[in-house]
Amino acid sequence: MHVERLGIHDSVSAVFPPERLCEALADLHPEVVVVDDAAAISACDAVVTFAHEEAFLDLEWIHSIQAGYDRFPLPELEDRGIVLTNSTGIHGDSVGETVLGYMLGVSRRLQQYARQQERREWDKPDWDVPFTLAGESVCVVGLGTLGRGIADRADAIGMTVTGVRRSEEPVEGVDRVYASEDLHEAISGVRFVALATPLNEHTRGLIGEAELAAMDEESYLINVARGGVVDQDALVAALEDGEIRGAALDVFETEPLPEESPLWGFEEVTVTPHVAAFTREYYEGVAGIVRTNLERIAADGTFENRVV
Ligand code: NAD
Repeated sequence: MHVERLGIHDSVSAVFPPERLCEALADLHPEVVVVDDAAAISACDAVVTFAHEEAFLDLEWIHSIQAGYDRFPLPELEDRGIVLTNSTGIHGDSVGETVLGYMLGVSRRLQQYARQQERREWDKPDWDVPFTLAGESVCVVGLGTLGRGIADRADAIGMTVTGVRRSEEPVEGVDRVYASEDLHEAISGVRFVALATPLNEHTRGLIGEAELAAMDEESYLINVARGGVVDQDALVAALEDGEIRGAALDVFETEPLPEESPLWGFEEVTVTPHVAAFTREYYEGVAGIVRTNLERIAADGTFENRVV
């Protein structure tokens, strides 16, 4: 593969200005340009993008600025011999801090006070509602970049951290690791369940009616993975029936979350607009992976974070 012209697709503006990434890669050999239509895309050999476009199917390499790659047509890319790489590895700090924030928001009642402030209301919670995270428990499902970012922070603040991964191999900072088959056992009896797996055929609907029933009535579900990992109707029913106490959700089956969704209305549900990984350094992390891959293409034709 030889990359003479690298396009930065305009869709990355969902997360950062494309020009920032162009500037960060300006010293490299391939010409780096912002592209926004099929003609400009077809003049490139490779593209860095947020969204998928049909015009990418004539290129040699696509780099996704997200860790998730569920929006790309993997079989078609494979058939056509197009390389797809992703941006896993750069979101541990941002998503880890966001999840710590969700948990602190619940334990220290910060969301409740923010809502009250909007109404100029001075109101204290019942004495037995606030708690501290120290001594509480979180089960992190998926122990990759995101999962470890969450686990490290939970461990540092004094929580008991358990996790679920495909094998039971131990992970630093995680007190007990369960295999995927033991999901129900892992998520029962903990205060927080945090989802950090990719969305794929094995994880679609991973958390449904039975799993929500297995969770503790005082527990909270945190989803920073993808909306499809949770059966959203089952989640709404579990919240309405008091099967779990609340949730913090960054990702949804349909995004933006439709105005009529009941999820907006629960006191104990925090809704964020798929921004758990947002940080003004985001483009620098992407630039690092793209730079490494351009070097590796020139050296031995291999790729970091290759998906297809
Ligand atoms: P990663 O590849 O580093 O980690 C994913 C981990 O999940 C891997 O360790 C994998 O073995 C594990 N896994 C897969 N299936 C599993 C299963 N059934 N049970 C338990 N573990 C399983 O990826 P990452 O960077 O940590 O990102 C994970 C996912 O989170 C992405 O695919 C993306 O969809 C999502 N994500 C969301 C945001 C956001 O802004 N909310 C940001 C980054 C990533």
